[in-house]
Amino acid sequence: MTLSLMTLLPGLYIVATPIGNLSDLSPHAAAVLAEADLIAVEDSRVTAKLLRHIGVKRPMKPYHDHSDERTRRDLVARMASEAVALVSDAGTPLISDPGYKLVRDARAAGVAIHTVAGPCAAIAALTLAGLPTDRFLFLGFLPAKTGARAAAIAEIATVRATLILYESGPRLGAALAALRDGLRDREAAVVREISKRFEETVTGSLSELAGRYADSAPKGEIVIVVGPPGEPEPAGEEDVEAALREAMTRLSVSRAAAEVAHTLGLPRREVYERALALK
Ligand code: SAM
Repeated sequence: MTLSLMTLLPGLYIVATPIGNLSDLSPHAAAVLAEADLIAVEDSRVTAKLLRHIGVKRPMKPYHDHSDERTRRDLVARMASEAVALVSDAGTPLISDPGYKLVRDARAAGVAIHTVAGPCAAIAALTLAGLPTDRFLFLGFLPAKTGARAAAIAEIATVRATLILYESGPRLGAALAALRDGLRDREAAVVREISKRFEETVTGSLSELAGRYADSAPKGEIVIVVGPPGEPEPAGEEDVEAALREAMTRLSVSRAAAEVAHTLGLPRREVYERALALK
C-alpha cells in the first residue's frame, strides 16, 4: 500500500480498522496510523499485523476502559503535544470496544479529537439484513446468564425499531430462542463473517433461525439483526375496561377516560361512555 503521508497535529485520532478484509483500511486511516506518535491498542499483536500490512512500525500502548486512571491520564497528557491514535482489534473503536472514557477525558482536557470513520460490524450487518433501517437500536452483547438476558430483552420488547446485537457462535442458538420468547416471532437475520471468505447472511423468522441454530453453533463472528414489531393489535373491550378500572382508582371519571383514550388511541367520547357505565 502506498501511503500519502501528512503531518498530524497533536490530538486524539479515533481510527476505524477492517473487520475482515484488510483492504477495507482507508488511505486516510493508514496515513494517520503511519504518522501517529503513539497508537493506543487493545492487543498489540493484532495491531502489529495491521501495521505490517501497511509497512509501518509505530510505538503502541495497551489501553482498555478499565485501564487505571494513571494510564488514561498519561495518554491524555501526551495528546497535548503528540498525535495519539486509538484503534481496537477490529472495526470502530468505542462500539462494544474500549475508548469512551479516553474520549471523555480528552475532551475535558481540551484536546482536539478527530475520528477517521470506517468499518463497523453493526452497520455492515444492518445493510445486509434487508430489514427497516430508518430506526435502529444497537444493543451490543446480551448478558450471558439466562435471567439477565431475558430481562434485557423484556426491557426493549416494545421499542419500534430494528435491533442489532453482537453474538458469539456458541451462544447463538440460546440467544435466538430468548429473542423469540421475549419479542414474539419477528423477521430477523444472522450475519456472519462480514467481509471474510465465508461471509453469510441467513434470514428468516426468529423461530426458524432459533430452530436452525439450536444444535449447531456456527463458526466465526456474528451479528443478529431483528426487525421491528408489527402493528399492535387494536385494544379489545376487555383491555379498555381493565385500563379504565385501573385509571379510575387514581383519577376522576373524565380524566381516566381521557388518559385511556390517549393511551389506546380510541375516541374520547366512546371511552367516557364506557367509564360512566362502569362507575
Ligand atoms: N468495534 C467493533 C465494530 O465496530 O464492529 C466490534 C467489536 S466487538 C468486541 C466484536 C463483535 O463484533 C464480534 O463478536 C461480532 O459480534 C461482531 N463482529 C466483528 N467483526 C465481525 C464480522 N466480520 N462479521 C460479523 N460480525 C462481526
